[in-house]
Amino acid sequence: MSDLYEITTHCRACQSPELTSLHDFGMTPLADRLVRPGTPKQSEPIAPLELALCNQCSLVQITAAVDPTVLFGGDYLYFSSVSPSLLKHFTESAQAIIQSEDINAQSFVFEIASNDGYMLKAFKPAGARILGVDPAKGPAQAAIEAGVPTVNDFFSRDLASHLVQEHGEADVILANNVLAHVYDLEGMVEGIHTMLATTGVAVIECPYIFDLVEGGEFDTIYHQHLCYFSATALDKLFERHGLTLADVERTSIHGGSLRLFVRKSASSPQRTERLLSLLDSEAQKQVFEATAYSSLFDLTENVARELPKLIRELRASGASVAGYGAAAKATTMLAYCGLTSDDLDFIADLNPRKHGWVMPGGEFEITAPSTLLERKPDYVLILAWNFAKEIMEQQKAYSESGGRFIIPLPEPHIV
Ligand SMILES: [Zn+2]
Repeated sequence: MSDLYEITTHCRACQSPELTSLHDFGMTPLADRLVRPGTPKQSEPIAPLELALCNQCSLVQITAAVDPTVLFGGDYLYFSSVSPSLLKHFTESAQAIIQSEDINAQSFVFEIASNDGYMLKAFKPAGARILGVDPAKGPAQAAIEAGVPTVNDFFSRDLASHLVQEHGEADVILANNVLAHVYDLEGMVEGIHTMLATTGVAVIECPYIFDLVEGGEFDTIYHQHLCYFSATALDKLFERHGLTLADVERTSIHGGSLRLFVRKSASSPQRTERLLSLLDSEAQKQVFEATAYSSLFDLTENVARELPKLIRELRASGASVAGYGAAAKATTMLAYCGLTSDDLDFIADLNPRKHGWVMPGGEFEITAPSTLLERKPDYVLILAWNFAKEIMEQQKAYSESGGRFIIPLPEPHIV
């Protein structure tokens, strides 16, 4: 046992003690924990990264829970508005909700983990009252400055009880890419139930475990992501808390996600055909069995073998190689492949808040995207592969000057 993390023996959703280990990634640096140049390597925290399956409710989860004050505290550098494709995705989602839920000046829209307010802003033209909650200081402050009222705190069952008294029940609750990060999953879902109006809808997005499995997206497994959801596991989770998964859409964001439409069971919502068909496809995949996930680890082992080999062969032939995207997922990719600053000269990133910092593990220097044109590496490994198209378009001048890109998944290839 360690002060830094706790190993769970029970499922984070249904509390069952029947967990089956799926894969052990070993001791791994914490993602999104950038350090200043010259920080001694031994002071960088590492924690076990092991994936397990709950035999009772089918929830896939990691066994180590790293102290959230270490994992999310201080210099959290992720601002959602930095990515144009994310902005477009969530603005379109907001517009669809405004239409389908008939959002107007009487409506109250509440968002959990609202970051810098990028999605709530899109409800302003409809006249709706908006409120966000986010534990990260920087993004919450940016939201307030942009005119999005934001409570700087962790959402929980207690906060929900307090907020519902002060602001009333919400017609729409949004929660994008937060469910996987939650330590008290039951408390979060109870909180949603507390705040949601009987006629309201919670629209929740999270990455989809079977897109992860089929795309070999093992690098999206890191300490901030405690859970990896199937529709089956979510259906059971909501059902236990008086909520009904009524509909689901599949989206391509973050390597493949689910957009869930959840309503109060008391409103007796109809379940859509596409939801029932997705649940059925998961039953056919045997969502409760370890074998449903095993192809992921074949792809993982292949990348861990082939990616360092490719990069080292290129370097041995005299080529230079850099990386693009100092995102959280890069931590797992680089650590599991054993790549260091001997393999990648630097990692460029669009977020100016990361420039001048170092990514722990391989001690990678983070630079501005303009470095690609200044230093002209022969190859650039796209670590933020979920934004590969966007990155290659932004870096057209680099490829036009002869630079080539390497995409790591589902198997490493040069484009
Ligand atoms: Zn469970």
